[in-house]
Amino acid sequence: MKKVYIDPGHNYSGADTGAAGFGLKEQDVTVLVAQKLKPMLKKSGFDVKMSREAITDVVATGLSASLSGRAEAANSWDADIFISIHCNAANTKAYGCETYCVSTTGNAGRLARCVQDHLPAETGRYDRGVKTANFAVLTRTSMPAILVETAFIDNFDDNKFLASDAGREKLAAAIYKGVCDYYGIKYDTESEDELMSREYEELKAKNESQDKIIGEIGIDIESSKSDINGIKERLKRYDYVDENMPSWAVPTITKLVTKGYLKGDESGKLNLTEDQLRLYTVNDRAGLYGE
Ligand SMILES: [Zn+2]
Repeated sequence: MKKVYIDPGHNYSGADTGAAGFGLKEQDVTVLVAQKLKPMLKKSGFDVKMSREAITDVVATGLSASLSGRAEAANSWDADIFISIHCNAANTKAYGCETYCVSTTGNAGRLARCVQDHLPAETGRYDRGVKTANFAVLTRTSMPAILVETAFIDNFDDNKFLASDAGREKLAAAIYKGVCDYYGIKYDTESEDELMSREYEELKAKNESQDKIIGEIGIDIESSKSDINGIKERLKRYDYVDENMPSWAVPTITKLVTKGYLKGDESGKLNLTEDQLRLYTVNDRAGLYGE
């Protein structure tokens, strides 16, 4: 399993804080990009360690200790490659992405080219190419090391890109693909859109099956309700010829009471069921009780 050490540049506070532009801080952007890059690499089977996992993390308070701390951590972990993530800043006019290495020959140079090959295409940022520099994190690390300047934080357009979650996702994807190319392995990516439409489909299917269950329960409830109402009707007793009695039964029951065929109990209650009302009414219509 290849070990990738990701170094989100700078610190939350202290001597080694980064550049800033339009209220956005480099030290925050670097972590946010790294947080997206890490799971991509892990999904492809890479072992990943980061110098800062959270925005509030501080590697060391002094500048020198902060820079050497990152390199030493990667060295002692015996990382296979080292990737430092930064944002550029200049005069507000400069824009684009570039990747640094100590030398363009050798593996660091090859890694830098692999990553830089994807950056402009993936992010739509201007291609400033692969460059060399003796940055401390590049010279003090004992494995192929690169430093990615994602975009210019003090440039309006680049800043907007860095400030967006979608932009940072694209930066992470570009670096991820570069690492995959460096190792000659296939990308295992799912674009944000693909991911969202898959999640949407899954959610939709779940909702539909829940709706179906709820619908079935609903039907059951309705039929139970009518069953209960039927039972209630059957249990209902009609004691008097009044507005509670079904109007179709009134003439017959009135006749039976008047003729003395039907008598109530001591308190005068007839205590008739609906079935009895029906039976008497049918018999009456058949002429059984006379005129
Ligand atoms: Zn920086």
